[in-house]
Amino acid sequence: MSSEPGAPLAGGIPLSVPSLDAREWEYVKECLDSGWVSSAGPFVDRFERELSARLGGGAAVATVTGTAALHVALLVAGVQSGDEVVVSTLSFIAPANAVRYAGAVPVFVDAEPSYWQMDPAALRTFLEEECETAGGALRNRRTGRRVSAVLPVHVLGHPVDMDPVLDAARRFGLAVVEDATESLGARYKGRPVGRLGDVACFSFNGNKVVTSGGGGMIVTDRADWARRARYLTTQAKDDPVEYVHRETGFNYRLTNLQAALGCAQLERLDAKIAAKRRIAATYAQAFAERPGLTGMKTAAWAESIAWLYTVLVGDEAGTDRRSLLAALQAQGVQTRPLWQPLHRSPAFADLPRRPCPVAERIHSAALSLPSSVGLTETDQERVIDAVLSSTRGRAAAEAR
Ligand SMILES: *Cc1c(COP(=O)(O)O)cnc(C)c1O
Repeated sequence: MSSEPGAPLAGGIPLSVPSLDAREWEYVKECLDSGWVSSAGPFVDRFERELSARLGGGAAVATVTGTAALHVALLVAGVQSGDEVVVSTLSFIAPANAVRYAGAVPVFVDAEPSYWQMDPAALRTFLEEECETAGGALRNRRTGRRVSAVLPVHVLGHPVDMDPVLDAARRFGLAVVEDATESLGARYKGRPVGRLGDVACFSFNGNKVVTSGGGGMIVTDRADWARRARYLTTQAKDDPVEYVHRETGFNYRLTNLQAALGCAQLERLDAKIAAKRRIAATYAQAFAERPGLTGMKTAAWAESIAWLYTVLVGDEAGTDRRSLLAALQAQGVQTRPLWQPLHRSPAFADLPRRPCPVAERIHSAALSLPSSVGLTETDQERVIDAVLSSTRGRAAAEAR
């Protein structure tokens, strides 16, 4: 048995695991029976078509991971080596790594305190006060580098407040690349996440709401960008017979086997989202009266998919998120802190550091709880009991 913090225990309740069904077996068997297992085949096209249909439009290009999708999305959006791209600091590291793969430099902005997403006001402050327009380009005054794109990340299933982000981007001539990897099915003011910026990326990694084992998708309304994305993700082949290439491409294709899994999963997206929302609502209700526990909120303009239920553990709870993680681990419940804010990451220690106090505050208190689509009521009760028995009730909090 592993004693690593956050590792699942035998017989324990994992943080988030895929839910697989008969349809997955059926489609994967179809691949095996037909011999189409590799990076071409009918399920790849079908997965692209069905994701696009689900989003109500846009050309979709399948990729081997969400991170690969982000890399190529940045390239087709015109991000060049030496440019800067604005990213929310409160995110998994993948989008910032993708910026680096493009030879560009991430600039991290703070999260807003209510929904923990990129703060449009922080973005505006950076663009208005720390940048200047020179020679037809927006430049970061401190570094002299051109700022070419904004990369909002819809974290934990909840959308970013996109209208002010889009306004700022239009005003300064920046491309908007949405990282929608955690939020497939979410809506912003009625519009699907992934259809709000110039190009968007999805992930079908094992912990996402739809998994293909591993995989990603680039979605854009711009036919030329989609064409270029397909070109770059397939080794930039100019003559597929003679193997002539004019530039350096990537082998970022999704396999038919993975797409088969993805197609089966996508068919049940609505049921999965309903399960996620039910799990989140049950947690929210159970912790509503508990001092010091603050759950995720959903904005009035948002339809969140509640991808990974996360709670903030405040002083009044009589514990902190590290002790609570250990206490839950001892009871067989796997939990996880949020990602270290990227402006604090040793991986980006070479960059000028901008203050992001909100993200730091959220990070210091946040703990994600088991949120698998297949989480049973009994298991969720076990998680809730474990949380309640490891934190202090109102009477105890008031008696202090
Ligand atoms: C999962 C994820 C990605 C992409 O992940 P892959 O594992 O490469 O598919 C990108 N950004 C965020 C915020 C993610 O959570």
